[in-house]
Amino acid sequence: GLFTSTPSLRAVLAGSGDAEALEAGLDGAVDEIPRLLAMTVVDTDDRIVATTDPTGATKLLESGIGPDDGGEILGVVTTDRRGDPIALSSFPVVVDGVTIGAVVIETDATAIGDLATNYEGLSATGETNVAQFGIGGEPEFIAPLRFDGDRATPTALPAAPATDPVVAALAGAAGRLGDVVDYRGETVLAVTRSVDGPGWGVVVKIDRAEALAGTESFRDALAGAWALGSVMVLLLGYLFARWVSRPVHRLTAAAEAVAAGDLEIRAESDRADELGALAAAVNTMTDSLVNAAVEEASRTGELETLNRQLSESEARVRAIFESAAEGIVHCDERGTILEFNQAAEEIFQRPAHEALGLPIASVLGVVSNSDGGRTIFDPTAALFDQAGHPGGDAAEMVARRAQGAALPVEVSVSRVEMGDTVSYTALIRDISERAAYERRLAEMATQDGLTGLPNRELLTSKLEIALVACEERVAGVSVLFIDLDRFKLVNDAWGHAAGDSLLRLVSRRLHHVLRAGDTIARVGGDEFVVLAANIPDASTAIGLGERLLGSLQEPFELGGSTTYVTASIGIATTFSSDTTADDLISQADVAMYRAKQAGRSRLEVFDSHMRSRVQARHELDTELRKAIDAGELDVHYQPIMRLDDGGFSGVEALVRWTHSDMGVVSPGEFVPAAEESGLIVPMGRFVLDRVCRQLAEWQHRYPATDFQISVNLSAREVMQTDCVEVVHAALLRHAADPRGLTVEVTESVLVTDATTAIENLRRLRGLGVKIALDDFGTGYSSLTYLRDMPVDIVKIDREFIAELEYDRGESTVVALVLGLGESMGHAVVGEGIETQEQHDEFVRLGGRLAQGFLYARPQPAERVEALLWPAEVIDLETLDETRS
Ligand code: C2E
Ligand code: CA
Ligand code: CA
Repeated sequence: GLFTSTPSLRAVLAGSGDAEALEAGLDGAVDEIPRLLAMTVVDTDDRIVATTDPTGATKLLESGIGPDDGGEILGVVTTDRRGDPIALSSFPVVVDGVTIGAVVIETDATAIGDLATNYEGLSATGETNVAQFGIGGEPEFIAPLRFDGDRATPTALPAAPATDPVVAALAGAAGRLGDVVDYRGETVLAVTRSVDGPGWGVVVKIDRAEALAGTESFRDALAGAWALGSVMVLLLGYLFARWVSRPVHRLTAAAEAVAAGDLEIRAESDRADELGALAAAVNTMTDSLVNAAVEEASRTGELETLNRQLSESEARVRAIFESAAEGIVHCDERGTILEFNQAAEEIFQRPAHEALGLPIASVLGVVSNSDGGRTIFDPTAALFDQAGHPGGDAAEMVARRAQGAALPVEVSVSRVEMGDTVSYTALIRDISERAAYERRLAEMATQDGLTGLPNRELLTSKLEIALVACEERVAGVSVLFIDLDRFKLVNDAWGHAAGDSLLRLVSRRLHHVLRAGDTIARVGGDEFVVLAANIPDASTAIGLGERLLGSLQEPFELGGSTTYVTASIGIATTFSSDTTADDLISQADVAMYRAKQAGRSRLEVFDSHMRSRVQARHELDTELRKAIDAGELDVHYQPIMRLDDGGFSGVEALVRWTHSDMGVVSPGEFVPAAEESGLIVPMGRFVLDRVCRQLAEWQHRYPATDFQISVNLSAREVMQTDCVEVVHAALLRHAADPRGLTVEVTESVLVTDATTAIENLRRLRGLGVKIALDDFGTGYSSLTYLRDMPVDIVKIDREFIAELEYDRGESTVVALVLGLGESMGHAVVGEGIETQEQHDEFVRLGGRLAQGFLYARPQPAERVEALLWPAEVIDLETLDETRS
């Protein structure tokens, strides 16, 4: 770069050792950061200290941009220099509280689309709010984005001060606002935008305190200035203008219909769905932006992740567009079709690629007159006309299908303005099929689409009726739970289509065995339930079960080949109407599970032994649920030692439950129960939240140290579709640096669906979170898994450590894992070291990280803190003593 120099500011920079960083950084940044055109540092006398573009910088200063603008969002300006729009941001350089200059950053704002996938980063306090006027005229958040997850319920604005940018946005303000007070009472810099039609106010904001924080080094200046740049504005405009406003428009139409007294339930539920999807989409966007700030260091390496996250959020918005039940056609000002979603393809019976470029008038027309005469109506003009009145009546028109057929449709149009360009979005609803569609919906609600059998809901209601009747008739009701054995193998080997045909064949055979009056339902992938009423005694049900098993004995012809299927069946019978439908089904389920364990292809009857086990589980479950709700769970932390220097590399978070009557319940007891019942999911969220809060606190208090908190995730949690989002949200909620979090999983995550598990783990890793493979060595074919899984840390199970001192033979396992881990670049932790002998042997084998009672037990956060940072804690105490 070319540098001229002003002594004062340069001297300061030199004094702080930042002069070299500045020189190298300016050039490096311009090379590295897409669309960064130039950077200029000026002093308070408007002189150039350093710049990457001397000619341009001079012009810039002539145009009056200088340190006075420090901290301002200058927005998008068009310079005569290039004639292209550029985004300008200026940021003060503050040393010891005195502003000694400013950094001016110029970025290329021509390709908005590109910016959306190539932006650089944002601040920690950045937040997006979307609000509207509620029914009572009060402003409310409809997607209180960042902090409230994907909640789609409108919430009242918390006593918003009149200055709140949300209020301004709702009043129609579009642009930037400096120094306004938001709903939290914080002074913020904000960009507001109102979305026409639905009357939404959208705000992207950042705390002033953060935005204007002193910039001690070049990097801070860059990050800060960038944060204030117009990238957000552009991005938001981009997203909103392109996709988001469409579902929104549809929502408003629904809301209006409701207001008009048309309380159609579907509109309501659609509305919630769309809002949820919208909230999720914008959430992801904000999260991606905020995450960028968390990752502020080594930003080059993170660029890919950021890009991916952003394109994911785009993809989600895209998905709303594509999956919308209604046809969406987007055209330019002249009515030329630009976008055509899947539903539109269906309605018009044209593939999108054929529709693109056609005038909308060629596919949409007015309903023909009774004389069948040609229409002279110009639908394009009508559309434009209508779009001027957002929320206006939807017009009934005809969709001209490719084959010349016409289909009655309902059309409503919204106008999308973005900068100078205007475009139109038409929402098209097929009204001819509406009734048929609704009928199908009702059917779907009680029927399994694949086999045509009743689904679980219908089964449950039939079972309830049968149970009521059973007392009167003095007869029993049996439920037979049927689960195909190793059905997954069929799916894997032959593909899903073959699996589906097989399920149909199986359902037919099973159905054939039943008596009139019995019901068979499909309740899960390869699970069927038979309901047999009027059962005189338990053995009748067993007979039925045997016939069901027998019906599967003959091979199945599948695509020209022959395959065999077996099933495991669990039977539960009751003669009392006190048993609920759910109880009876889950009893049969438990018995089926027993049949699987006993070797498959057999049946088991639910007995009193199973009953007591189920009851115990059930009680534990109820208590645990209460404990989660009451916040009675606690998290303890067990230090993980660095054996070379005796320091700590981090801690493992372990859940603790102290029950008022039962006392301390061991996780070894309730975690498996919670995994079975699914309670592990809310429990895990609780733990995760606590852990992230603790992590953020320690990161804040001990910024210099590099430590990890490990949190256990059970397979069920990893398999949740929103697993990554939940972890991400917890990190964001407490502003914890993801690099301090480790997630411990066991090989069992790979058992049900390895692809999903690996994908989720990869995505977690993409956030910066580390992955530890827990209880290593206890699973099967461990070494293969170790190769396939994205893993940073391997934890050798206690089982092997325990053997260390007795049997040198076990040492080979430990030695092997240590060697393997090292060669694969994984850190290896020895778990459960209790004795000095184990410690010595582990060290001798090359172990570097260890956890166990020998070093420290799991304990509350404060005590662990004193262990991990004794110096700091003592310092604080001494300080207190000297003070008092
Ligand atoms: P884990 O993940 O293998 O956790 C380590 C367990 O070993 C902890 O038991 C810890 O107290 C114990 N331990 C540590 N050092 C020693 C030692 O030197 N000797 C012996 N005998 N034990 C030692 P804890 O806390 O009872 O947890 C049991 C299991 O429960 C954990 O095994 C983990 O699988 C599960 N768990 C605990 N907290 C959570 C949680 O928040 N979420 C989930 N999903 N699972 C959890
Ligand atoms: Ca663990
Ligand atoms: Ca473990």
